[in-house]
Amino acid sequence: MYLYNSLSHKKELFVPNHPDIVKMYTCGPTVYHYAHIGNLRSYIMEDVLEKALRYLGYNVKRVMNITDVGHLASDADTGEDKMLKGAKRENKTVMDIAKFYTDAFFADCAKLNIKTPDVVEPATNCIDEYIHMVETLLQKEYAYFAGGNVYFDTSKLEKYNVFFDHKEEDLEVGVREGVEEDSNKRNKNDFVLWFTKSKFEDQALKWDSPWGVGYPGWHIECSCISMKHLGEDMDIHCGGIDNAFPHHTNEIAQSEAYLGHKWCNYWFHVHHLNTEGGKMSKSKGEFLTVSLLEEKGYDPLVYRLFCLQSHYRRNLVFSWENLENAKVTYEKLIAKIATLEEGGEVESEAFAALKQRFETALNGDLNTSLAITAVYDVLKAKTNDATKLAALNDFDYVLGLDLLKAAKRLSEAQPKDEVDPEIDALVAARTAAKKEKNWAEADRIRDELKARGIEIIDTPQGTKWKRV
Ligand code: AMP
Ligand code: ZN
Repeated sequence: MYLYNSLSHKKELFVPNHPDIVKMYTCGPTVYHYAHIGNLRSYIMEDVLEKALRYLGYNVKRVMNITDVGHLASDADTGEDKMLKGAKRENKTVMDIAKFYTDAFFADCAKLNIKTPDVVEPATNCIDEYIHMVETLLQKEYAYFAGGNVYFDTSKLEKYNVFFDHKEEDLEVGVREGVEEDSNKRNKNDFVLWFTKSKFEDQALKWDSPWGVGYPGWHIECSCISMKHLGEDMDIHCGGIDNAFPHHTNEIAQSEAYLGHKWCNYWFHVHHLNTEGGKMSKSKGEFLTVSLLEEKGYDPLVYRLFCLQSHYRRNLVFSWENLENAKVTYEKLIAKIATLEEGGEVESEAFAALKQRFETALNGDLNTSLAITAVYDVLKAKTNDATKLAALNDFDYVLGLDLLKAAKRLSEAQPKDEVDPEIDALVAARTAAKKEKNWAEADRIRDELKARGIEIIDTPQGTKWKRV
């Protein structure tokens, strides 16, 4: 498999460090609010990467952290604590907020067919590991104590700016307009490893440490959590492109200073989902969540398809119109699959040829739009339905679009001989409400139908229904 590596700025043949396992790490969510669909684009593409590796025969161990402490409003260790901000907003404790939004995150992932990583570790579980790493960095003189905090000294490194995507002046993260520079820092890129109460008095979660009562910086959690579960080396580290600097740059700095050798070989960065107005935000404009998509009548898997249609290294623009196009594509695709007949023998040669195309798409730097083309190739192929269904089922392990399940649901929907004018009228009223963008009324009718034991299914030929 060829993967683009942000460290080398080129596509490289992927070769794992150990023949029996691929060690993969993902920066998890900061659980102070719902994930927006931009965040979830990153998790969808990382899920596809993990599943593609497994599909291609690798054994994968994937670890993800949950950031429930230490992430400040600016990634450069300044501003308000994100968790505290969430707790204040909802008048709850930080741990209540963390639990609620962790559960909400995994509920969203389940709807998007994102597999839960093998290990999920909340940052607050690993305080001893952070203290140990900070102590070692102090001993090795890669860190210093100033004004109540422990900082990493970036001047001790041969090379700090490892991704070299950024111009030197862009690295001045501490001196952005409106952001106060931390006068304790010896160098502008130095970052906090451990905060003490001297800096943030209202921090809710604090632990004893050799440097006073305090809490870890954000970056150190990913280094320690990955080493706890994956050991001292790693194959692939994933995250959104905004994490490349300073978060991942700092992770590499402290991990390699601590270990004394190279830490991670491949860096997989997913580019951003933006709105037509620009950057996606949790506070400005429409807060785009999975629930909002559902409220507007979109199956979360339509959003998954929308993401798969473009390459993970391209910025993607979200608009309701673009999502509607993906919905039409999804429904047409499912309708075509629903016409395939079950039964019969799979033709192994034809199956292998179709699989080959799909694998080629994955092997070419996870070209998911080409992988979707391979799905259409199956439908057009000169082979029997059994082979087509087998190939689609095989591909769907990676794509996660419920291709066969949705097709089955569609073909089982509303037996042709069933007529019920009352139900038909309600379905028609819901369609009219949706056309007028009266989502509340459309939802009310759907709930009423549900209460009567009727499930509704949107298809390219209109809305169908069935008794459940
Ligand atoms: P956070 O919860 O803020 O720590 O972010 C979770 C993940 O979402 C990180 O990997 C971010 O890099 C990623 N991310 C943030 N914004 C976007 C976006 N607009 N599009 C894609 N990924 C994003
Ligand atoms: Zn991280």
